Amino acid sequence: SGDVVVPESARKLAGKVALITGGASGIGECTARLFAKHGARVVVADIQDEAGARLCGELGEGNASYVQCDVTVEEEVAAAVDHAVARFGALDVMFNNAGIGGEACHSILESSKADFERVLSVNLVGPFLGTKHAARVMVPAGRGGCIIGTASMAAAVAGAASHAYTCAKRGLVGLTVNAAGELGRHGIRVNCVSPAAAATPLATRYVGLEGEAFEAAMEAVATLKGVRLRVEDIAAAVLFLASDDARYVSGHNLLIDGGFSVF
Ligand code: NAD
Repeated sequence: SGDVVVPESARKLAGKVALITGGASGIGECTARLFAKHGARVVVADIQDEAGARLCGELGEGNASYVQCDVTVEEEVAAAVDHAVARFGALDVMFNNAGIGGEACHSILESSKADFERVLSVNLVGPFLGTKHAARVMVPAGRGGCIIGTASMAAAVAGAASHAYTCAKRGLVGLTVNAAGELGRHGIRVNCVSPAAAATPLATRYVGLEGEAFEAAMEAVATLKGVRLRVEDIAAAVLFLASDDARYVSGHNLLIDGGFSVF
């Protein structure tokens, strides 16, 4: 489906400007490609300069722009938001997606404070800063907007990830609800997605398996048998939340886990 062209009449983000943190790889990269197909101009913000610049080159100068941004550094998040406005004239969609897996350690006895703080910093403080600075420009612009976070199934299920990762993602769900309550009066919707494991560098590193071995391990624990979660499935859900199809959806955490967390 990579080369499919979306006809102009079916484009869901025509005229919109989106900023995607962690946009150089995995879920963020796939979403950047899908957003661009749907007519959005996209700012890719990441710390992987080469991959980010290459992706934006592929999407085309007029449609995409790379900016180096460590989401744990407030000045850099503020600058990335300002870059979107300077380059493309507005910010309509903020996708707070950058994240790290951290230590693949599930025992509280062996978890380190340094890892806990690092995972909280990237996976929760990052989205806090992204939400704050997106709102800083969206509110006075008066054209509404949409803020989306990448939480995780690990926010809903005990033992699916480390304490640090679970706490950060639960925190992100909390931020989503709180920010939705505050920003709704400005026409700004705030939502998040909670995917199960999809084969990205983050997930394969965390699980310690790649390729078929990774897929087999995930299939073994899946509720929805015979269906593999792809990053495209997550990007499609993010597109839904970003588009007018979800114009009355706010404060929602959209599970993309094949039903795993409800059993
Ligand atoms: P990925 O490693 O492919 O992409 C993550 C991107 O974030 C990378 O490009 C990385 O450079 C960037 N990044 C890391 N730290 C950063 C920082 N400090 N500042 C800016 N960018 C930074 O992994 P992915 O799986 O696509 O992860 C995207 C999001 O999805 C993460 O928040 C992750 O927790 C979440 N998630 C992933 C899965 C999964 O199974 N893949 C499941 C649930 C949630």
